Amino acid sequence: MTSLRIQGIGMTSQRTRDRLIARLKEEGIKSIAVLNAMRATPRHLFVDEALASRAYEDTALPIGHGQTISQPYIVARMTEALLEGGLLQRVLEVGTGSGYQTAVLARLVSEVFSVERIKALLLQAQGRFRDLGLRNIRAKYSDGTMGMPESAPFDGIMVTAAPEGIPLALVRQLAVGGRMVLPVGDRDMQVLVRVTRTEDGYEKEMLERVVFVPLLGGVV
Ligand code: SAH
Repeated sequence: MTSLRIQGIGMTSQRTRDRLIARLKEEGIKSIAVLNAMRATPRHLFVDEALASRAYEDTALPIGHGQTISQPYIVARMTEALLEGGLLQRVLEVGTGSGYQTAVLARLVSEVFSVERIKALLLQAQGRFRDLGLRNIRAKYSDGTMGMPESAPFDGIMVTAAPEGIPLALVRQLAVGGRMVLPVGDRDMQVLVRVTRTEDGYEKEMLERVVFVPLLGGVV
């Protein structure tokens, strides 16, 4: 990919990106590290070229296969919630999708593991990581409801599709003190939850109402 395309022009320029960052601040995102990671990540490369001019609107957009790239505010909020309380080394993301959230995380933690159940989306996302020179991402084609046991434990887990309850298989793959941020609920009513792994179980905090695509089992 040419550096010109990565840089962007007009509706995909750095100036347009900076306006989105200003808006996220107004909406209450406080972490400078998160805002900087998002400023440095060209979201227009994570959507179809036909949608590139809308990439810096604060809205979710379709990425094909009935899936969506998350709204920037939600990416910022979830990343902030995951990082609050200390730096993280190893983070698992469930639901690579476009790879945008993965790329933002990759600028903030040492190593990102990501799993996606739709092969076509995974392959596209991997191409983007290569183009952007992001080398601390290991993305894998598999059903994320099982997590990634071979690479556990993780200091952080972020789930970007909604299960109906907290998946215990994922809680078990958190190191003690580790945190997981995920939307929980059915299609009509979901809440963003932060789970902190303790010696003998976990604690949970409710953050805010959200709307995500469902976490599905199996691979396609
Ligand atoms: N972080 C992504 C969000 C994409 S939407 C982005 O910002 O682009 C959620 C993604 O989760 C979809 O790509 C969907 O295919 C994936 N997904 C749903 N259930 C899954 C599962 N069990 N395992 C892995 N990925 C899953």
